[in-house]
Amino acid sequence: MSTENALLPYGLGSPDLVEIQKGYLVDSAIAEDLNKLIECCRENGFELRLESAYRPFEKQLSIWNRKARGELPLLDESGNPMQRPSGEEDLMHAILTWSALPGASRHHLGTDIDVVDALSCPPGYEVQLTPAECTGMFARFHAFLDGLFGSGRSFGFNRVFVPGRGKIRPEGWHIAHIPASRRLLEQFSVKTLRGIYERTDIACKDALLKNLDALAEDYIYPYFL
Ligand SMILES: [Zn+2]
Repeated sequence: MSTENALLPYGLGSPDLVEIQKGYLVDSAIAEDLNKLIECCRENGFELRLESAYRPFEKQLSIWNRKARGELPLLDESGNPMQRPSGEEDLMHAILTWSALPGASRHHLGTDIDVVDALSCPPGYEVQLTPAECTGMFARFHAFLDGLFGSGRSFGFNRVFVPGRGKIRPEGWHIAHIPASRRLLEQFSVKTLRGIYERTDIACKDALLKNLDALAEDYIYPYFL
């Protein structure tokens, strides 16, 4: 990998992206498999629709800083709005309940997507990406995906944020192209991430730098598959 591409796992650099559905970009390396997955869903009566795909570092950084500044709501474990903690470490952990570390979001890879079944969406419904949707209106779709992922004909895709793995809460809507993401994550190091934070205007910087090794054990490495 060239030096320029060495920053791809952190959402930096210039990935080779293609627009797979309107407004949603993925790594060109997964386009063929993703189209096969979409076609397979269609043959089985589902319309796989992306709700999120590639997200650059700057976007995740903006979410992180706006949550820290109180410009976006902070939610507690149950998803209810919470008071903004005054201590930097408590604030950092509160943001981490629902938001990935900038530079360590799997959406930086371009190999991970959030999906719903468009055919199961009531007219005008705005998707929230919640566990309740996965077990509610999209339950049949997710059961179908589970079947595919268990069958060995899943075109490289599988779930990542499952119960019992790491400290990121389970995300039933999030799936990843495992082989393509693995190739990128082989280039990832906490040392490089630390260097990025040191030269970035990021909220809770001191707490992040102080706790980064422990954070990696809980929020990053468990999801390297
Ligand atoms: Zn996701």
